[in-house]
Amino acid sequence: MEKKSVVNLITVQNLKKEYVTGEVVTPVLKDINFKIDQGEFVAIMGPSGSGKSTLMHILSFLERGTSGLYQFKGQDINEFSDNYLAELRNKEIGFVFQSFNLLPRTTVLDNVKLPLTYSKLKNHEQLAKKSLDAVGLSHRLNYYTNQISGGEKQRVAIARALVCDPAVIFADEPTGNLDSKSGNTVMFLLQQLNNQGRTIILVTHETDTANHAKRIIRIKDGNILSDEKVEKRTIAEADKDLIK
Ligand code: ADP
Repeated sequence: MEKKSVVNLITVQNLKKEYVTGEVVTPVLKDINFKIDQGEFVAIMGPSGSGKSTLMHILSFLERGTSGLYQFKGQDINEFSDNYLAELRNKEIGFVFQSFNLLPRTTVLDNVKLPLTYSKLKNHEQLAKKSLDAVGLSHRLNYYTNQISGGEKQRVAIARALVCDPAVIFADEPTGNLDSKSGNTVMFLLQQLNNQGRTIILVTHETDTANHAKRIIRIKDGNILSDEKVEKRTIAEADKDLIK
């Protein structure tokens, strides 16, 4: 049997982040260490205030750590300018947010096209349609975003995250504004994308949501508490979740 080669995507070593306000120093991330390979589905889990968002902002080049190493595809992120990081973010990272962040009074298709306007890619219409097809929304192209359900909005947001063919999708509490059925549909879609090889990093405080990932990194007070594989669930169990 052919063995799949493991390709490292993210390496974080001794990462620290502190915020300084006047004379007050708030340590938010204390000593974070992990590696994430291409094709993984990782949940970063922890209670409110534990440092999840800060970590996600650093991993997606929106903020820099105070000290420590962050390598993305083997490159030291600290060596890059903010402008270059913005370009890299557009190319390599797709975002899915709790509150969808779609443009109102704009069609589904135009929302998905938006990240392409900042990229060097061509054939925007075709790429956006392909992305919407991947999330099962080809029949909603010309709907306005206020004419679709919450679950559909999040699927549009996933299509938008996919449209530049990023190396990784960051999903920040993607089910937080959804009922449990739509939430499960969204998580099932993320699982499908991961099964097709897409790397996914999920940030959540909910165990049910985190259990859709293949690995859970738990953080508390800026430290990693545990970093474990999720037991493989059978398809029947996953299906049960879907019809809950
Ligand atoms: P989580 O996403 O797990 O809720 P955050 O990363 O948002 O946690 O925040 C972790 C801690 O860092 C909190 O105590 C928060 O108040 C603090 N924090 C976040 N951003 C800033 C900032 N810009 N300045 C000062 N403190 C901050």
